[in-house]
Amino acid sequence: MATNRTFTMLKPDSVENGYIGAILEKISAAGFRIAAMKMTQMTVSDAKAFYAVHSERPFYGELVEFMSSGPIVAAILEKNNAVEDFRVLIGATNPADAAEGTIRKLYASSMGENAVHGSDSDENAAIEGAFHFSGREIF
Ligand code: UDP
Ligand code: MG
Repeated sequence: MATNRTFTMLKPDSVENGYIGAILEKISAAGFRIAAMKMTQMTVSDAKAFYAVHSERPFYGELVEFMSSGPIVAAILEKNNAVEDFRVLIGATNPADAAEGTIRKLYASSMGENAVHGSDSDENAAIEGAFHFSGREIF
């Protein structure tokens, strides 16, 4: 059953390129309510833990290095059918394959530096949200 929350990160490329405002505007215009948000930076060990599910994949080292390379904006977003609707809003992992108007099509530069994270299931949304936020930071 779908819950109503997902977890996102505006990745280091989005922050570096000055896209925080534009991406948050897209998220807001798509009807998501911000339940939690902060700017933070993951350490190498944070990024390893966050992406542990990908530890056997060939891109893991590069992904960990990139995701710990600079500040991110982490957020918990609320909307009916949040996980699925947010995946549609961000578009395909590779921006070259992302649909017109999606966040990755508009703001991502490559498969690795692809602007935003979006949870892939309700279960992972809850795990990922709890990774970054304490109960007192979620509204
Ligand atoms: N990634 C990569 N190369 C790949 C696949 C993924 O660099 O071939 C990176 C990319 O930043 C992606 C992240 O690893 O967002 C997690 O991969 P996943 O397959 O979960 O894609 P997502 O759920 O982010 O679309
Ligand atoms: Mg994923």
